[in-house]
Amino acid sequence: MTVGDLRVKQTRRHFLHTCANGLSGLAVGTGLLAQEVPKKLAIERIELFPVRFPTVMRFKFLESPKGATGRASVMIKVTADDGTVGWGESIPSQRWSYETLESALSTLDHYLIPVLIGMDPFDLDAIHAAMNREIGPGFSTGAPITKAGIDIALHDLMGKALGRNLAELWDRTTPDVLTLSWTLNPVTLDDLEPLIEKGQAHGFRHFNVKVGPDPGFDVEMCRIVKRLVPDGFLWGDANGGYDLETALEVAPKYADLGMDVFEQPIPSNHLTGYQALKRQGALPIIMDEGVVSPEDLSTFIELGCCDGVAMKPCRCGGLVSARRQIEILQDKGLLFLGSGLTEPDISLAASLILYGAYGLNYPAALNGPQFLGASVIADPFKPVDGTVNIPKGPGLGIQVDESALTELVEQSKGAV
Ligand SMILES: [Mg+2]
Repeated sequence: MTVGDLRVKQTRRHFLHTCANGLSGLAVGTGLLAQEVPKKLAIERIELFPVRFPTVMRFKFLESPKGATGRASVMIKVTADDGTVGWGESIPSQRWSYETLESALSTLDHYLIPVLIGMDPFDLDAIHAAMNREIGPGFSTGAPITKAGIDIALHDLMGKALGRNLAELWDRTTPDVLTLSWTLNPVTLDDLEPLIEKGQAHGFRHFNVKVGPDPGFDVEMCRIVKRLVPDGFLWGDANGGYDLETALEVAPKYADLGMDVFEQPIPSNHLTGYQALKRQGALPIIMDEGVVSPEDLSTFIELGCCDGVAMKPCRCGGLVSARRQIEILQDKGLLFLGSGLTEPDISLAASLILYGAYGLNYPAALNGPQFLGASVIADPFKPVDGTVNIPKGPGLGIQVDESALTELVEQSKGAV
């Protein structure tokens, strides 16, 4: 019997669900068969664990007026009525976007959890619709980083309930490892060489560089990186830190130095500026911060704003949206880069499986293992030779160590 033969046995409900919404996280492309879907489950309980993962190196997005306060995460444990558990996490970074640990916690506690209790954890369309009703949009999806935590937890729960890895839910397979990029974020140029050596000591051969707003400093930094790592993939990310004039001036200099891609040169809402940078054609222009929903991405592509996107499921409201965006990029022949928000264990697992399943061709800027000094899973991710294992087990393929989590919650109390 072929897969096609089996698929016709989908229930009418799932068939209609498939037809009704091309963005469904479950029915479209999952290959889930009716006989494999367990009896209808309901979300019984959602528990929240606010923590701050300690950092081991300076990273500007993990600082606050109080100094380096750690990587904020609201870890989310969803339990279904048959006892199946799924883990997710919301990972705001208030210097990267407007969400904070406190806003994620209160949004989940007061607005999202009350409407999610009792819902079918497999019905991701209804889950996202309910979350989007409670927390409305700004320009795009509201509170996407917070909502991504729920989306990831439900993907883990579905995989655990079916005994399938996320990639298998999507009818896909993953390679054993993913190649990573090392993040360079020096305060002075003298810091640069030791930072590169540190990455190389861990086997990293590719580097992403935080640039902006000082083009003099940045060009010199990239010159040094290219001299020390002539064959590595050099990825510049300004996080919207230049104005258009500066970005247009600096892009050809970066191209001459051998930079491969220029990410988020100017603020997200400067769309005519993105059009100008793409028209200039000095380097592939990559968008990040402003691309939240698939509709945003389609619009920016139609407007000629970018050559590709640095994907981040946590920025996009979760895996349903991120998968659709990758499919749009691949369909249009645009660049799909894999990036992140300094993911700790759970969100890192989700990103690794996503990028592996969709055939990422470039080193992923997933720098949680580089910057974070704690883990709450049984088998922490440890890069070897600049690569990290992609989890293969059911759901996210990781096991949360709840005693380690309890300890981190306690340690975090002063900082949360
Ligand atoms: Mg970025």
